[in-house]
Amino acid sequence: MPRRRMYKPVNVSGLKRDLGQAIIIKYARKTRHGKIARCVPSDAEQWNLIDRKENEGTDGKVIYPTEEIAQGAARELAALVGKPHRAYPCNRSKTGHAHITTKY
Ligand SMILES: [Zn+2]
Repeated sequence: MPRRRMYKPVNVSGLKRDLGQAIIIKYARKTRHGKIARCVPSDAEQWNLIDRKENEGTDGKVIYPTEEIAQGAARELAALVGKPHRAYPCNRSKTGHAHITTKY
């Protein structure tokens, strides 16, 4: 009887998730501890002392250093999952940063 090689089936959705994370890691801003930086409302926003600069959907989103860099990540993520992604500048940042959304 010929020896059959056993191949583990490829978990495509798991692989896409990992590749998506790799794209995010490649483009995202990192904290000085090497973690991915995320957008948080200022204290003044959280305590309703000023109007929110971005809606709650932006809270916790991955930060990209510039809109151009976010566009690069958006293109790669769109190609990976076959769904359009859009980069947009964040109103919350003084120095400027951007996020990605699948909403149009
Ligand atoms: Zn932001």
